[in-house]
Amino acid sequence: MNAQNLLNLQKETFLNGKTHSYEHRESMLLRLKEMLEENEQMIYQALYTDLNKSKHETLTTELGILYTEIDFSLKNLSKWMKNESVPAPLTHQGTKNYIIHEPLGNVLIISPWNYPLQLAIAPAIGALAAGNTVILKPSELAPATEELLSHLIKNYFDEAYFGIITGDKDVSDHLVGLRFDYIFFTGSTQVGKKIMKRASENLTPLTLELGGKSPAIITADANIKLTAKRIAWGKLINAGQTCVAPDYIYIEESIKNKFLKELVRQTKRLYKNNPLNNKNYVKIINSNHFNRLMNFINQSNELQLIYGGSSDETTLKIEPTILQNISWEDDVMQEEIFGPILPILTFTDINEAISAINQQEKPLALYFFGKDESVEAQVLKSIRFGGGAINDTLYHLANPHLPFGGIGHSGLGAYHGKYSYETFTHKKSIMEQTTKFDLPFRYPNSKLGKRIVKYILK
Ligand code: NAD
Repeated sequence: MNAQNLLNLQKETFLNGKTHSYEHRESMLLRLKEMLEENEQMIYQALYTDLNKSKHETLTTELGILYTEIDFSLKNLSKWMKNESVPAPLTHQGTKNYIIHEPLGNVLIISPWNYPLQLAIAPAIGALAAGNTVILKPSELAPATEELLSHLIKNYFDEAYFGIITGDKDVSDHLVGLRFDYIFFTGSTQVGKKIMKRASENLTPLTLELGGKSPAIITADANIKLTAKRIAWGKLINAGQTCVAPDYIYIEESIKNKFLKELVRQTKRLYKNNPLNNKNYVKIINSNHFNRLMNFINQSNELQLIYGGSSDETTLKIEPTILQNISWEDDVMQEEIFGPILPILTFTDINEAISAINQQEKPLALYFFGKDESVEAQVLKSIRFGGGAINDTLYHLANPHLPFGGIGHSGLGAYHGKYSYETFTHKKSIMEQTTKFDLPFRYPNSKLGKRIVKYILK
């Protein structure tokens, strides 16, 4: 079925009210869970083919997050769906006021290649829980996962409720031009701008989950060993191809050398000294990205490249690489790195770091490592970013109680847990007027009305 026909079918389904009930929504979530559980082996295989992702990494960063999101929604959905009663001001005596939660309608989800399963299905959990229909357009750059998703969704779901259309950016662009009620896009800032422009032709509201350069700030009193361990893990998971990976380190000059020693030690421990031959180390998605990343390494001089730097073109793996003596003018600081390369910048005064970060676009994440709560508070207050963690990396996004999303160039809107449900729900305000009496003050010829208005406005 072509995209327009599929959307027409979903429009008809939605208008017939078939997706609204709690029972329908619950059945969609249970079916999703069944789909994932019954096909775990195929999912592991697809992610290994696309990204060389190990079972452990697929379980923790793709499947695990989806199971948590589904269970959390199932547990809370009936509570979330309840109408909300709100109070009435004096001018509205006799009225009943409430907010109905209703689904938006027909949702389009466009997802990227870096977590090709998780980022395709996580928004769908919210959209289906909120009673919408969904058409998913996964990334063509992770073809094994794309094909598996297509096979599974077609086999497990009636396409009137949840359908999938595969293809490249032209297919995606065509979809964005159709009359959806909501678009949920995850991908690059550059493409996000195009999607927003295109969606504006139909005034289609949207969420943009984008990227950017997320800093890790380390102050002199940080626990060096734990900081190095958690940064190495957050940077190297998925070989740095994570939207919230620490993009660069901004460290207090006085502890730089000590920290770098520990960072190298922790990096070696993670992949047993031999990442290029380690079957658990993720590869770069394709040769375009591989060459883009190798350019950063090739441009660095021997004073900068202090660890790593080698690669294997046949397997598309790049060794974890640490670059020191980096300045804001270096190429590696001009765009989101999205790979296993970690540049180190230094500061002597926290205000210098805050001010330099504030010259950049607002990041998706920020990580602060240190013990001094007043410095921590200053950083949190002075820098705008999507979300982040203190003394850790990445972990914040796996808590379904926290909204996940960017700000400015790193995104628009947020999701996960209740925030996903709210993203895909319209809050319809209703005031039910009484017919038992009719307060006079809104009418122009009421003397009593005028007196009451004067009294209220005093
Ligand atoms: P991308 O923007 O190139 O592609 C994302 C999706 O958009 C794909 O499905 C693709 O087919 C489609 N697309 C590409 N060009 C298009 C166009 N001109 N019109 C319509 N659709 C188009 O992103 P990517 O390379 O797949 O992913 C990497 C980027 O995504 C990074 O910048 C990363 O930070 C970001 N990202 C953000 C999050 C988040 O949650 N905020 C998560 C993962 C990745």
